[in-house]
Amino acid sequence: MSKALLIFLDGVGIGEKDESKNPFFSKGFRTFEDLFGGAPFLEEPVLRKGNKIIFPIDASLGIKGLPQSGTGQAAIFTGENAPALAGKHFGPFPHSTSIKIIKEKNIFTDLIKKGLRSFFANAYPQLFFDYVNSGKKRINVTALMALESGVGLRTIEDLQSGNALSNEITNYRWAEKLKEPVEIIEPAVAAERLINLSLKNDLTLFEFYLTDHLGHWRLKEEFEKIWSILDEFLLNLLSKLPQEITLLICSDHGNVEDLSVKSHTLNPALGIAAGANAEKLFNNIGSLTDIKNAILNLF
Ligand SMILES: [Zn+2]
Repeated sequence: MSKALLIFLDGVGIGEKDESKNPFFSKGFRTFEDLFGGAPFLEEPVLRKGNKIIFPIDASLGIKGLPQSGTGQAAIFTGENAPALAGKHFGPFPHSTSIKIIKEKNIFTDLIKKGLRSFFANAYPQLFFDYVNSGKKRINVTALMALESGVGLRTIEDLQSGNALSNEITNYRWAEKLKEPVEIIEPAVAAERLINLSLKNDLTLFEFYLTDHLGHWRLKEEFEKIWSILDEFLLNLLSKLPQEITLLICSDHGNVEDLSVKSHTLNPALGIAAGANAEKLFNNIGSLTDIKNAILNLF
């Protein structure tokens, strides 16, 4: 039985081949260089190496303005044109018109209806559970669909036992900023854990949003650290991906690929497909709204 692993990277587009703007060229990124012979850019957005394919994903969805996280992520995880429903790109939290479709049509719920097992691998700290339990409504798309579908959120206990990953991959922010008793791990260990979790479930989702923070010029002092952790993590995942897992890495809009601006960009979102069904994903995904069905069709 084949498995699907979806890694959602917030705010990563395919941009210009310009070292003064694009950190994939100025800082380098071994995942692209070692596995594909270089990073993708607007004139050469599709790169292939064996059963690994980098490709662009339309994030504008026919709506003017800069794509945003709330509507973009709702489009990814529901397959509906959330910016069209909202009448605009909206974020970072879900628009009121997106909340209904996230509750009713999210990918986790659809898989559960088919009798398949979904898993959301990110661990959330107690602070977040306290926030949700206080009745506050501003919850990001992935957490909202995990809560609504019954898939649920992983906790510190899951993180400590290797049954979840931290948002920053290596747990350094949990250990150093939240002062929680968790061990800091290597990106390669996190990649191995995510592969093991993926083998136990039909669809496993991991979300990494620090790329969007970097694109907004936040966490500047941690840029190099976050960049190299992500790179090593993805390089390990793609290099060690077992036969039975099909991997899709996708983003919701451009941002970090153009550091000359603090805002999101109009560039296409990054897509990477790998594994036995990579070609199928590449052929079926042109825009954010194609992602949900392309994954459902793997099963
Ligand atoms: Zn976003």
